[in-house]
Amino acid sequence: MTDRNESGQAGDNWKTSWRPATQMVHSGTTRSHHGETSEAMYLTQGFIYDSAEAAEARFKGEDDGFIYSRYANPTVDMFEQRMCALEGAEDARATASGMAAVSAALLCQVKAGEHVVAARALFGSCRWVVETLMPRYGIETTLIDGTDLDNWQRAVRPNTKAFFLESPTNPTLEVIDIQGVADIANAAGACLVVDNVFATPLYQKPLQFGAHVVVYSATKHIDGQGRCLGGIILSSKDWIDEKLHDYYRHTGPSLSPFNAWTLLKGLETLPLRVRQQSESAATIADFIDQQAMVRRVIYPGRADHPQADIVAKQMTGGSTLVAFEIDGGKAAAFAFENALRTVQISNNLGDAKSLITHPATTTHKNLAEDARAELGITDGTVRLSAGLEDVNDLIEDLGAAFAAIR
Ligand SMILES: *Cc1c(COP(=O)(O)O)cnc(C)c1O
Repeated sequence: MTDRNESGQAGDNWKTSWRPATQMVHSGTTRSHHGETSEAMYLTQGFIYDSAEAAEARFKGEDDGFIYSRYANPTVDMFEQRMCALEGAEDARATASGMAAVSAALLCQVKAGEHVVAARALFGSCRWVVETLMPRYGIETTLIDGTDLDNWQRAVRPNTKAFFLESPTNPTLEVIDIQGVADIANAAGACLVVDNVFATPLYQKPLQFGAHVVVYSATKHIDGQGRCLGGIILSSKDWIDEKLHDYYRHTGPSLSPFNAWTLLKGLETLPLRVRQQSESAATIADFIDQQAMVRRVIYPGRADHPQADIVAKQMTGGSTLVAFEIDGGKAAAFAFENALRTVQISNNLGDAKSLITHPATTTHKNLAEDARAELGITDGTVRLSAGLEDVNDLIEDLGAAFAAIR
């Protein structure tokens, strides 16, 4: 946010030499006159002006103080600034959930008669926005297999305005060539929006590969401790000012200051947690690969990942998630999940607790069977999100569950 408290100094984004772990502890912090150590939580809807003239000046944009927390709030501002530092983005707007971020980032920039192309392997609600909601308002949409660059080129129409993709995808961890898609988007005059949740801002920086806008569900790794929902949209200052600013102010997807504070605390430990959880996920992927009843393991970072070359090109780490397919379909997958004791059954991900889900009957149950098959989601597919437990306890739990269903 450019709006900031008169008494607050600018954030610490000037310190560009900081490495990510340092940025996550310090960037964006704006202290009040009390000099508090931890970020202050400004639970306020509005702000008081010293005079009628001051209120007028602020509404005219002559001073950049805060007006109303639907527009901007000092605690939310700190979260936005810290995320800008990590992502290398000029500006950002925090939202109440990941879906508020996705829907605002897409809807703020297109109108009836225009066209959006999206990779079909999307989080269920993202797919609903593209496939069902946007056409209701006269926005044309095309869903493609995003792993093949030719499909993006072929889908372009004269009225194409935006491209949307998720990489790695949910739940099958497919990886899409961001630079390749960005080049096609630029040639077509389209804006590329990347949902970067699965990679986290630590392991993949879409803006560096030509994406125009990055969105997150902060509910996932950024909170990472199962406490609150949140989201964020990051881009250039021009894009935020021209496309998002008015939409955000007037439709109200804003983040609660309480949740922004929780997410700031989450960011402090994000590098530690993501590193540990990814290491555990890699160990688990190798363990699962040795099991007789496992048909296929997908983990970005393994040599047998279908897009291993693109993983090497654009990601600096693997993932905290592993997908695998158990022989015996739904019955075997359910028996496996039910036999687990340490790993919990939940559709969430990126949490300190290890979580497992059966996408065909939960997150992707709304897709027709052929659409699921296109995405490689079978009745035996399960998705595991590695948490912060000792990896040996996780391996023991998984091993016991495999033994129970053998
Ligand atoms: C969870 C998720 C979302 C939606 O986020 P919410 O915070 O639940 O609204 C969007 N995209 C991806 C890839 C997700 O995993």
